[in-house]
Amino acid sequence: MKRARVAAGSGLILGFAAAMVAVARHFAADPWEPVAFPVSTLGATAATVALASLYEWIVHRHVYHRPSPVPLLQGIREMHHVARAL
Ligand SMILES: [Zn+2]
Repeated sequence: MKRARVAAGSGLILGFAAAMVAVARHFAADPWEPVAFPVSTLGATAATVALASLYEWIVHRHVYHRPSPVPLLQGIREMHHVARAL
């Protein structure tokens, strides 16, 4: 169930980013069209936030909440759990 939810959420975010790329490519044909700049700017911003959210979730899940043999990553994990307890 959880894997299906993660896969669905990740697919939704990647699909949204792909849609924003398609919109940007559509407007790339005529970049001087009046709506091209605002649509591209808003689309790029939204896609960046969506992809950064997915990346943050992956880092949180795999670095912050799993033990690691790499001392740097283990230190990050320990600091995360100490901060949670404060
Ligand atoms: Zn956490």
